[in-house]
Amino acid sequence: MSLDFACACGTVRWSVDAAGARSGTHTICYCRDCRAWARSLGIGDQLVPGGGLRLFITQPGHMEVTGDTSALVCTRLSPKGLERWSTACCNTPVASHVPGWAPMAGVTAASLPDPSVLGPVRLIYGAKGALPGHDAPTRNRGVKRLMIRLLFSSLWGHVTGRSRRTPFYRDGARPSTATAHR
Ligand SMILES: [Zn+2]
Ligand SMILES: [Zn+2]
Repeated sequence: MSLDFACACGTVRWSVDAAGARSGTHTICYCRDCRAWARSLGIGDQLVPGGGLRLFITQPGHMEVTGDTSALVCTRLSPKGLERWSTACCNTPVASHVPGWAPMAGVTAASLPDPSVLGPVRLIYGAKGALPGHDAPTRNRGVKRLMIRLLFSSLWGHVTGRSRRTPFYRDGARPSTATAHR
C-alpha cells in the first residue's frame, strides 16, 4: 500500500509507492534545524514531545509529486543544509531532500492522522537537540540500521536506475528556488 499525503489546501499531493512504504524508516528527528523549519512553517504544534519532527525516510525515487507542482519551494537553513521542500500555497512541509549518490528523502509526516501506518519508530535522530523534558530521548537509536539500509537500497537503485530519479527536480535541473537564510 502506498502512503499518500497532501498539503493543507489540497493543491499539491505526494506519495511514497508501496515498495518505498515497505522499505522506508519511520523516524523522529529532534535536531534544531528540523524544529526551526517546522516552526517557520507554522506547524510547531505538530512536533512530538521533546520537539521532534515525525518523518518517513525513503529514497526520492519511490516518491511522486502530483497536483500543482509549481507550488513547491525549496529552502535551505544554511548554505550546505538539506533541501527543505514545502508548498508556497499553504506552507505545508513536504520533505527534506538529500540528492547525490545515496539519495534520501525525509517525508514530513507531522500531520498524519494515524502515524501507525508508518510502522514502528525505527530511527531516533538528533537526540542532542531534543528539548528537555521527561519525553525527550537521551540518545539516537537506529542510525546504523538506516545507514546499512540506505547503502543497499542505493546500490540496488543504481542497478535499476531508481537512484537517479527524484520528483523534486524537473528535467534534472537543480532547484532554482533554494535560498539560504537563518
Ligand atoms: Zn497547499
Ligand atoms: Zn532533523
